[in-house]
Amino acid sequence: MLAWQVETPGPIATGPLRRVTRDVPVPGPGELLVRVTACAVCRTDLHVAEGDLEPHLRPVVPGHEVVGRVVEAAPGAEGFAPGDRVGVAWLRHTCGTCDFCRRGSENLCLSSRYTGWDADGGYAEHAVAPAAYAYHLPDGYPDAELAPLLCAGIIGYRALRRAELPAGGRLGIYGFGASAHLTAQIALAEGARVHVMTRAEPARQLALALGASSASGAYDRPPEPLDAAILFAPVGDLVPPALAALDRGGTLAVAGIHLSDIPALNYQEHLFQERTLRSVTANTRADGRAFLDFAARHRLAVTTTPYPLDEADRALADLAADRVDGAAVLMP
Ligand SMILES: [Zn+2]
Ligand SMILES: [Zn+2]
Repeated sequence: MLAWQVETPGPIATGPLRRVTRDVPVPGPGELLVRVTACAVCRTDLHVAEGDLEPHLRPVVPGHEVVGRVVEAAPGAEGFAPGDRVGVAWLRHTCGTCDFCRRGSENLCLSSRYTGWDADGGYAEHAVAPAAYAYHLPDGYPDAELAPLLCAGIIGYRALRRAELPAGGRLGIYGFGASAHLTAQIALAEGARVHVMTRAEPARQLALALGASSASGAYDRPPEPLDAAILFAPVGDLVPPALAALDRGGTLAVAGIHLSDIPALNYQEHLFQERTLRSVTANTRADGRAFLDFAARHRLAVTTTPYPLDEADRALADLAADRVDGAAVLMP
């Protein structure tokens, strides 16, 4: 089968993603063999390719927003049958026994493993995945629109919950890519007012079209104080202005797995009055199911830019250069 793999991570301009021919993988106990029909391109794939995330498997096939059809369910793979539409996401294994797993925070598991980082992912014609971590997907969406829901959507959903936006509150969104454009729709459906701060003009236009109250430059002050904010751009320099934009008691959630250094903060300007800065780390399966249930009840507008699987390297380069509207999706 055709696949793309990262052998030696490096700057995207050096072409860390290599096109290869591989054997179709064989599912182990509890695993599904999936024929990939769509795989969205996430910023985390870029971090894997460029080495911002230390390699866990070499070579590794990136891709953790995978939609496909079950070809084979190996013994022990419960809940799916050949032909089912299935979603494969980032979280792939947790131990179930550590303190974090036992208290319902499996996203913090000490032995967690991830698709497209610890194991091969969906930049390929086939992938294998543990059935216990795979998702049934809502009807009413084409495969290409479901793919970005599996990380961009789920992580955005968790980030919104971590931001503790009060009912009817004012939400600031910093950066407006695939995850942000879905999160904005969840917040709007739940009655929030949304202000978007982002550098690219087309992204600002999309934000307004989706119902945001304002859209301005990345470092601009929103037109009103915020009850909560989410930082999607992997840019630590945006943390101080986002904190400064919070009203008393507000929370800033940093959604990304990687962030450039945060500059020095001023206690009075950025944190006092009980403002909170917190991170978002992966997600639990419960987050995934809750978000996909939400997506089944509220038809989300998912902006995608399709690429043939053959052009995964171009898709990743376009993401790096902010040239993608919504989510880039590889279509084998
Ligand atoms: Zn655990
Ligand atoms: Zn992702």
